[in-house]
Amino acid sequence: MTASPPRLRFAPSPTGFLHVGGARTALFNWLLARRTGGKFLLRVEDTDKARSTDDSTRAIFEGLEWLGLDWDEEVVFQGANLDRHRADAAKLLASGKAYRCFCTADEIAQRRAAAESAGGAFTYDRRCDKLDAAEIDRRVAAGSPFVLRFRVPDGETAWHDLVHERISFPNKDIDDFVILRSDATPIYNHAVVSDDIAMGITLVMRGDDHISNTPKQILLYEALGATLPQFAHLPMIHGTDGKKLSKRHGATAVGDYQHLGILAPAMVNFLALMGWSPGGDFEEVMTLDQLIHAFSSDGLLRKASVFDTKKLEWMNGQHLAKMPIAELESLVAPRFEKAGLATVAELAARRDWFHHLLEQLRVRSRLIDEIVAQAAPYFAESVTYDPEAVAKQWKDPAATLTLLTAVREALEAHAGWDPLLLEEMMRALAESKGVGAGKLLQPLRIALVGVSASPGIFDVMLILGRDRTIARIAAAERRLREMVAGA
Ligand code: GLU
Repeated sequence: MTASPPRLRFAPSPTGFLHVGGARTALFNWLLARRTGGKFLLRVEDTDKARSTDDSTRAIFEGLEWLGLDWDEEVVFQGANLDRHRADAAKLLASGKAYRCFCTADEIAQRRAAAESAGGAFTYDRRCDKLDAAEIDRRVAAGSPFVLRFRVPDGETAWHDLVHERISFPNKDIDDFVILRSDATPIYNHAVVSDDIAMGITLVMRGDDHISNTPKQILLYEALGATLPQFAHLPMIHGTDGKKLSKRHGATAVGDYQHLGILAPAMVNFLALMGWSPGGDFEEVMTLDQLIHAFSSDGLLRKASVFDTKKLEWMNGQHLAKMPIAELESLVAPRFEKAGLATVAELAARRDWFHHLLEQLRVRSRLIDEIVAQAAPYFAESVTYDPEAVAKQWKDPAATLTLLTAVREALEAHAGWDPLLLEEMMRALAESKGVGAGKLLQPLRIALVGVSASPGIFDVMLILGRDRTIARIAAAERRLREMVAGA
């Protein structure tokens, strides 16, 4: 780690949504900046005008905002720095580190094809580097188009990567790469280095698909006389089949997970463990503050991480169960309204009741929408009986009817509505009928919510309240009578 607080950046190309890999890169940079008191900067790499869109830029901002990854200083738009990119390229030309190449794209393509058909790899043969000054002047004066190529020196380019330790490339394997096209626009590696220098970036942390760019970038830093940043290349993210994560594995855009009902803190927690570990025995479920506190580049892992949506859902369930109930309310209430269960205002008016309901349902849910789906029976006028649950739990309609009638009568005879008392009553009743408590409570559950999975039955009764509980048992009795009559 450098002595002064690091300056880190996330540099997405706005050519699509914020993908989970990009979000993970952003998160790691952000966590390290927040951990060390450094800066987290955002640079939109919009130099590819054909592929960059405002919609993508917006989607990236929204994705970062949703995750809570706020950035320092003004957003840098790479396209606005064209003059500096050109000036830096001119500096390299003036210092003899770059040269004009007049070979046309067609000529290069032909030579590449020839090299490849001869079974070799194409490398630029530096023919334009051998032109004499007068010839160059003549071509420039004649208006011949040219690109600027970086003259790769002999030797080797190596760095100490914070993830991979020492990485080195023999320079002979690096072609004299183009830095400025013939229309005077910069090539990616040149724009990135020019910007990273201007932004004072001290640690470049990005996906390891950029490893092959790094030697070229290091050579450019050196040629421009700039201090080298540190580099950290994060391992790829794979699907559960071990292949590079792609659309085939399901949603890859962060926004999709937001819409699926994943909580931002769960997404952040999950992404944080993709290529990083706090080490030792650790508690996987962490808040943002805990992550900031624990994060360090020492815990960066080298092996590819696996994006397992089952694990993400589990993680989400953990966060759902732990988050402050008022926060959960503001998150789910609009979804209740959208599902037509109750308006946000109605829910706020019965806040204690609603919180009780949420407490019961959140520990049984992994996604927000599962809370909404499970809540339906508590808002419905009447119960919709799940045929499978009925077939299983009301197998003997006549016997079930007798039991439920006894339950209703017992409840009607008592004014109290206390879960302990209810439990005592139901157990005593089951005993007096000579059946196990389950034999009574499971059919009762179908009567109250229509399905076989629900919170504890006494909590269900509490949430429904006395009148609705009794009315629902009476409705179940009517249905059972019809079943007995063979309807
Ligand atoms: N714009 C590049 C990308 O989206 C990242 C550049 C970098 O981090 O150096 O892959």
